[in-house]
Amino acid sequence: MGRRRQLYEGKAKILFEGPEPGTLVQYFKDDATAGNGAKKGVITGKGVLNNRISEHLMLRLHEIGIPTHFIRRLNMREQLIREVEIIPLEVVIRNVAAGSLSKRLGIKEGTRLPHPIVEYYYKNDSLHDPMVSEEHITAFGWACAHDLEDIVSLSMRINDFLCGLFIGIGITLVDFKLEFGRLWENDNMRIVLADEISPDNCRLWDAKTSQKLDKDRFRQDMGKVEEAYQEVAMRLGILPEATNSDMKGPEVMQ
Ligand code: 5GP
Repeated sequence: MGRRRQLYEGKAKILFEGPEPGTLVQYFKDDATAGNGAKKGVITGKGVLNNRISEHLMLRLHEIGIPTHFIRRLNMREQLIREVEIIPLEVVIRNVAAGSLSKRLGIKEGTRLPHPIVEYYYKNDSLHDPMVSEEHITAFGWACAHDLEDIVSLSMRINDFLCGLFIGIGITLVDFKLEFGRLWENDNMRIVLADEISPDNCRLWDAKTSQKLDKDRFRQDMGKVEEAYQEVAMRLGILPEATNSDMKGPEVMQ
């Protein structure tokens, strides 16, 4: 069998041509970067865990009627997805102050926000993904007002659902980043959720201890990064506890 054609390599994933027209294979790497590539490393097993975690969350979202690019998981590191035209925006939804919001506005990390806040960043590495407003987005043609309406309403539904799902397993969904794409079927276009949802692009804190269970452990050199991702997978019920014997509870990570 010939090698599949690689279409794109990002910081954490590779996209290959899929088996059918209109499909792609998304491969999850163990590579991790932070600070727009300034810090680089490998989190052993991350790709396998993110593949499973993202599959699980995309399937749960599909069940409540959120359209996604996900078709099915193929193996430990790959999933089959629909090819979409990626909208060049990172949509961040925040429930609790942390990260760049705390830094920029001086709001103490951990402060619960009065309501979820949506922010947009222009996906552009050389510009370091600058924050933009709806006016920029429509003026420069990255998305039209109607696309943005869909993006906001999908983001809010996803946030409501994921907050409930995570709190049910003792995790606070502090904030997360989504990407959306345009899926063309004949002449019809739908906005669908793309990329991944995993501890790489969510802040997930233990609801009791506020212990970080996400990529901030890598960004801030806190250690036990892989264990944190395993803990999330285990609580979601997608990693048998037996394979995680070295990680009995969140307290060992402090
Ligand atoms: P912040 O703006 O506070 O740095 O990030 C907000 C949320 O979006 C965090 O959950 C963070 O993981 C996610 N996020 C923002 N930008 C990126 C990005 O370029 N890559 C990834 N993986 N996540 C991001």
